[in-house]
Amino acid sequence: MKRLKIISLVLIVVLFVVGLTVFGKPVKDRDALYQVSVLDGLLKGDYDGKLTLREIRRHGDFGLGTFDRLDGEAIELDGIFYQVRSDGVVQRLSGGIKSPFAMTTFFDTDIEFFVRQESDYRSLQEFIDRYLPTKNIPFAIKIEGKFNYIKARSVAAQSKPYPKLSEVVKNQSIFEFHDLEGTLVGFRMPDYLQGANMPGYHLHFLSRDKTKGGHVLECAINSGKVKIDTIGCFIMALPGSSDFYRLEFSGNLNEISTVENTITK
Ligand SMILES: [Zn+2]
Repeated sequence: MKRLKIISLVLIVVLFVVGLTVFGKPVKDRDALYQVSVLDGLLKGDYDGKLTLREIRRHGDFGLGTFDRLDGEAIELDGIFYQVRSDGVVQRLSGGIKSPFAMTTFFDTDIEFFVRQESDYRSLQEFIDRYLPTKNIPFAIKIEGKFNYIKARSVAAQSKPYPKLSEVVKNQSIFEFHDLEGTLVGFRMPDYLQGANMPGYHLHFLSRDKTKGGHVLECAINSGKVKIDTIGCFIMALPGSSDFYRLEFSGNLNEISTVENTITK
């Protein structure tokens, strides 16, 4: 019995190595979700930029996050970074601007289906859940569609000493959009990544004309196409800053869901 186990373990390792050789590094990288820092670090006020957009772009063409000093919501779509500022203005950013927290992957559609008339964010999430083979791996999610309603938020750049995110969102800007086309860009993360990330759905919105967007708090979709990218590898780039080293993570990690889903506060 013990010998069988050893043999099967060796086989798995061999297959893995053969897979790397056959498919090469770029294929493996396309399946990876690359994350800058820890979401709970952002929650605790670590808003200093860690990695440039140019660097992040090397790891993916699709994702979300925020910018240095928490300056708005980030959407990466088709390899272009868009910033939704707290005044609602959307602009393209690139190059040396840094992000304190970002998620990116090279988006390849693995699962695709249509969605119609989901009246709120929760029912849309439940609809998508039915198409997922498991809840135990991350998925990148792209939804191109017509929306009856989008409620989104953005946050303003902060200055030191940085307040916690739970304090910042008390003054967040809320945007409400009606009857517009656009794309939801984001991820569904497994429960076991609580703290490092946020379990469940995290979507940002960008209108088709690239003039409106934000972190999605509520939505009603009229019709759209849902594209899912299955993630096979999760990479976290951990900050080397003394601010990050000094953070205390033993507190309540469940605060994340309160902050990220805050509607009116
Ligand atoms: Zn967000």
